Amino acid sequence: MATSADEKSWKNKYAQLADELDGKRVAWENSEKILCRAIVRLALAVQGLDSAIDPHLAQVRDLVRKGVRSEQLLQQLDNLTDTLIRVEHGGKPSDAGLLFQFLGHCAASEEEKSSLEKVRERYEAGQLGEGKSLFVALLQVVSRRAGEPAEVKPVHTSKPGIIGKLFTRKASDHIDVNVLREKMIALLDSLEIPSSDQFRASRFKERLLADLDADSLENALSDMVSLLFAVKTNIQKEQQEIEEFLTNLTGKLAELETQAGGVAAISTEVAREGAAMNTAFSGHMDELRSSAQGATDLGQLKGLLQSRLEAITHQLNSHREREARRVAEMETQVQLLSGRLHEMEVESGELRTKLRSAHNKALLDALTGLPNRGAYDERVQQEHLRWRRFGGPLSLLVWDIDYFKKINDRFGHLAGDKAIAVIGRNLASGIRETDFIARYGGEEFVMLLTGADAKAALLVAEHLRVKVKNCGFNSEGKPIPITVSCGICEFRAGDTEETAFARADQALYQAKNQGRDRCVVAA
Ligand code: GH3
Ligand code: MG
Ligand code: MG
Repeated sequence: MATSADEKSWKNKYAQLADELDGKRVAWENSEKILCRAIVRLALAVQGLDSAIDPHLAQVRDLVRKGVRSEQLLQQLDNLTDTLIRVEHGGKPSDAGLLFQFLGHCAASEEEKSSLEKVRERYEAGQLGEGKSLFVALLQVVSRRAGEPAEVKPVHTSKPGIIGKLFTRKASDHIDVNVLREKMIALLDSLEIPSSDQFRASRFKERLLADLDADSLENALSDMVSLLFAVKTNIQKEQQEIEEFLTNLTGKLAELETQAGGVAAISTEVAREGAAMNTAFSGHMDELRSSAQGATDLGQLKGLLQSRLEAITHQLNSHREREARRVAEMETQVQLLSGRLHEMEVESGELRTKLRSAHNKALLDALTGLPNRGAYDERVQQEHLRWRRFGGPLSLLVWDIDYFKKINDRFGHLAGDKAIAVIGRNLASGIRETDFIARYGGEEFVMLLTGADAKAALLVAEHLRVKVKNCGFNSEGKPIPITVSCGICEFRAGDTEETAFARADQALYQAKNQGRDRCVVAA
């Protein structure tokens, strides 16, 4: 049930994660500031040692203060390094006197002072020549200060890095190693280091805590810089990964929500359950948000999201199962209903047939099997309408058995009935399918001849009259002479069923009057 509340909670979550990443970026920038401050202080510390490098140091400080522009800074550091190298290769450092003066001033003991004096003598005697040899000799003296055995580490033969070069000899000679070390430890502590770099950082810190000599310091500075770069790169990578992961996750959740929404639209019960699901979803999202806030790295965040997602999926699955059961129940019900409906259709079909046949039966005359008067009333209406619409001749014939009372009287009602049936059959068999005959009542019949004018109708009627007369009707083998009379009327303009019938009946009356066993066309 995707709701705007859910979407909002996701947007909030996204915004919070973005804030979190911003926080990391700020932490990184702070670290960068600390490093810059350290560089500025170092530059200040070595300022005045050599006039050749002072302008470079001033520029480095200036650049760093303005905000690090890595290309410019790199360029300036290279310039500084080159100058340093030139100074070093230019023979005796001009500031060695100052250096001995400084170290002597800082000497912790008389023993150290005399050791320094010895180094100065060797230096002035030209025995130490190169800057690095002087540095090592001085280092031996200073190292003893820490109460450790003086162990001269081999001078680096590999080309030192930029920071290493920057702090080669002169810087290390002058500055307090411990100050730098503390700065770096503080920097490390202030950094939010991604898990991928944590091992490296902790090893580095151990080294910082243990190592005190300037050589290690030189390496440590290089290591610090590369560690910071790695941290920065990894933070960026992690940020990108988190963004991708969240984009994916948002997509997946949207899919789940869409599916859940589709499933939930079935019934009110489902809608109610949908609301409960929605609440559960929101709960999951809230937990997810608060968990994500507490997460310190991507792995942990992934784990949290994964488990929460699994819980949601599990809930959704059980929801779907319940839905499937409900749908199955509904389908069964629908099947039952449609079965019932089918039965009803069959039943109603049967009923319709029965009704039709009942209706048909109602329209049939039991004695003759011919349509009855009711059927005639329907049919004459239809034929009259058709005649009015399409035109063409239409004739109405009324038949009446002659002296029927006598037949009844002489041969009985059964014979009379039989006579009615036989005459009906004879009349019916002499007309076309499109024509119509009905037993109108008693011993009277009525016919509708479509497409027949009065003349044609008279021909048909005459044929039928003769047919009846010659049908050979008998009762128990005794021949019974039987004739019929017929009144004929052709429909004409303005006729209704009644007026036409009346004219035909009038013609019949004439036929009777004229002696019976004849057909008369209405005037
Ligand atoms: P006419 O030539 O003038 O028509 O003389 P008719 O005797 O036929 O006179 P009418 O048509 O008036 O008489 C009809 C008689 O037919 C009356 C009745 O007893 C008899 N009848 C009517 N319906 C039935 C029936 O269903 N069965 C039998 N057996 N007789 C019927
Ligand atoms: Mg009659
Ligand atoms: Mg009669």
